Amino acid sequence: MQEKFYMYCWKPSFLSLFFSLVFFIKLFGQHSTESILCQGYYQSEEEAKAQLVRFKGTYSNLEEWQLRANRIREGILEGAGLVPLPQKCPLNSIMYDKRYYRGYTVENVAFESLPGVFVTGSLYRPGIGEGPLAGILCPHGHWNEPDNYGRYRPDMQKRCAILAQIGAVVFSYDMVGYGELSEVGWKHDHPEALKLQLWNSMRAVDFLLSLGVDPDRIAITGASGGGTQTFLLTAVDDRIDVSVPVVQVSAHFFGGCVCESGMPIHKSENHETNNVEIAALAAPRPQLIISDGEDWTKNTPVVEFPYIQNVYHLFDAEDKVENIHLPDEGHDYGYSKRIGSYFFLAKHLDLALDRVQRADGSIDESDIIIEEPNRLKVFNEDHPLPEHAVRSNDGIQW
Ligand code: ZN
Repeated sequence: MQEKFYMYCWKPSFLSLFFSLVFFIKLFGQHSTESILCQGYYQSEEEAKAQLVRFKGTYSNLEEWQLRANRIREGILEGAGLVPLPQKCPLNSIMYDKRYYRGYTVENVAFESLPGVFVTGSLYRPGIGEGPLAGILCPHGHWNEPDNYGRYRPDMQKRCAILAQIGAVVFSYDMVGYGELSEVGWKHDHPEALKLQLWNSMRAVDFLLSLGVDPDRIAITGASGGGTQTFLLTAVDDRIDVSVPVVQVSAHFFGGCVCESGMPIHKSENHETNNVEIAALAAPRPQLIISDGEDWTKNTPVVEFPYIQNVYHLFDAEDKVENIHLPDEGHDYGYSKRIGSYFFLAKHLDLALDRVQRADGSIDESDIIIEEPNRLKVFNEDHPLPEHAVRSNDGIQW
């Protein structure tokens, strides 16, 4: 019997060769689809258009879209290694050094997203107004110049302060390996940066809620890599009510950094998608997409936005999604983009825009104080990083 079994397995025959071939094709196929990363300019503009046509052909009504949306959502979380979601530890929030400026305050804050893993940032609050207030997350993008870096950037500080002046609690936080924690050993360029960064953003929503913000008025906005963080979090966390991704939603560009496309969130054996569809997962929640003429968002009015509009149309919510396209502008979150964002967020979060408007209706950012990076750092000699803090990506205990 044993000999017969041995012979069956090893004697070359058409049948055994056929099954071996099927087995290896399946094995190879699984491996190749499961590990497919769609990074940077993964496909051409023409291929991207064809892909959107193909995606659109997979659903024709709301029910079919919702099935697809759920599969994409699961695919993102699976690809990010967040299934099941980690257990939530106490935030153990730290807040101090409150500064009082005209119409808003700034505090240095940190919380734990996992035991000993600190998320550092600045909390901007309105100078006036009773709660519950709206809450807004502001993730930064990949700006690395010493005088234009991460969340210390002047345009980040202006945006956060204005949004606080008009009545929101605003949290501006360091991405993984950015800012002060890079000084103790954390790296941004890490194969699992996407996983921790997305988890940190989910915990940032917990942090805002722990401050008593209105759970029905939570928003997120960021540019470039901060735009990726904006649509990724909105896609997987339904606590986000309003989103404003800036200069990043593109059908042919998937984000060039490990924190955007370094894990297989776009393609697996169970799903295939791109950042346009991920942004569409916000539907029917209000969303403003800001694009420009000089980067991978240059086609937005004719390629990306119509696709997203169609998804909102299935919800009968076309009026909830808008696009501001600035053909003569480049890749930033400059003044004109911030203005569009202020108006949209004020409209959907019921904020008091008139507090920062001049008589002619324009927005006055001139009284915002731009603080030095050292002022915005949470940990220093007076407030050292706690003993139990994890000091590098490799020390994470999921
Ligand atoms: Zn990154």
